[in-house]
Amino acid sequence: MDIFEKIYCDERLARARDAKERGLYPYFVPLDGTEGTEVMVEGRSVLMIGSNNYLGLTTHPRVREAAKQAVDEYGTSCTGSRYLNGTLKLHQQLEARLAAFVGKEAALVFSTGMQANLGAISALVGPGDYVVMDKDNHASIVDGVRLSQGTMKRFRHNDVRHLERVLDGLPENAGKLVVVDGVFSMGGDIAPLDQIAPICKRYGARLYVDDAHSLGVLGGARGTAAHFGMQDDVDLVMGTFSKSFASIGGFIAGDADVLSYIQHHARSLIFSASLPAPNVMAVMVALEIMETEPEHVQRLWENGNYMLNCLNEMGFNTGPTQTPIIPIIIGQDGPTFLTWKLLFERGLYTNPVVTPAVPPGQSMLRTSYMATHTRAQLDHALSILATTGRQLGLIPG
Ligand code: PMP
Repeated sequence: MDIFEKIYCDERLARARDAKERGLYPYFVPLDGTEGTEVMVEGRSVLMIGSNNYLGLTTHPRVREAAKQAVDEYGTSCTGSRYLNGTLKLHQQLEARLAAFVGKEAALVFSTGMQANLGAISALVGPGDYVVMDKDNHASIVDGVRLSQGTMKRFRHNDVRHLERVLDGLPENAGKLVVVDGVFSMGGDIAPLDQIAPICKRYGARLYVDDAHSLGVLGGARGTAAHFGMQDDVDLVMGTFSKSFASIGGFIAGDADVLSYIQHHARSLIFSASLPAPNVMAVMVALEIMETEPEHVQRLWENGNYMLNCLNEMGFNTGPTQTPIIPIIIGQDGPTFLTWKLLFERGLYTNPVVTPAVPPGQSMLRTSYMATHTRAQLDHALSILATTGRQLGLIPG
């Protein structure tokens, strides 16, 4: 049997081919350039309402300048892992500042958020241990558990009673790690840590929160635990730099002993090259901006709330969102792709999310808003959304 055989009858590829033929393929769209809220696609300017650049810091003059200076001072790469020749003093300085930012003793910087989840979870979870996680958690958490030697159990999305039942069914003496996204990347809703943390305590489970979409957004930029005033009740905070921090990379923060253990066991840290200095410096300055200029977070929320109110008034189904990530739920895959295409042709960049990434009937366009969107840009987006929504019968005429 040829190992490539599966390629020729792969359903996902067949669907992609079909979508391309019909001009409805929405993925891997190459951008010629990006200035944050506007991107260039095939010579045309498209308004971006689908990025994770929540605070708009990728184009902030100080962030750009810091990355440029780092190239001059350190070159373009560390060419080695943190473990051997790839640790810079800069990494350690950033770790100390991140730990303080999220109210923990220590932090460890990885080269991507995905690697942070893969490395930390697979290091911590051993044979006989259980990971209990929200069914809507990010794929990198699922894969972290798969790489571990423990057992994965899932609870229904944000259903704390179900979480309790799952924990209740586990052996009392087994090690237990509860993992949730702080803000869910597709629905934009928040994990109820105020209810989850006491349940974890009752069952002797440790709590791990993936704050990829919460840092820079919730709790005065400090994340979900800060939002609930519960920084001491979360054992481990994971974050990524590929969103509000305007860079790439990731980190995990917690007690110093736990972090030291992860540092010496996480294979994605030990066997992969470290984060280059320009990326570290971009994060360092983004962090400083978050600490000293609260107006960016404030503008993000003003923009998100404005869009949410307007979209709801028009009659769009925006699902469970509580944040500037606003899904527009359309239902079936076909109409979702069609809506995406019309919006794109009319100059709006959104992200179609279809089955199996969402349950059948829940296909959506993921939209998300930035601190740097102007009111004129948002109104322009609303006018395109209104015309298209009425044309396709998504909202009343
Ligand atoms: N966790 C969540 C919740 C995410 O949304 C993402 C990225 N989309 C990651 C982890 C991985 O982060 P990175 O892009 O830095 O690999």
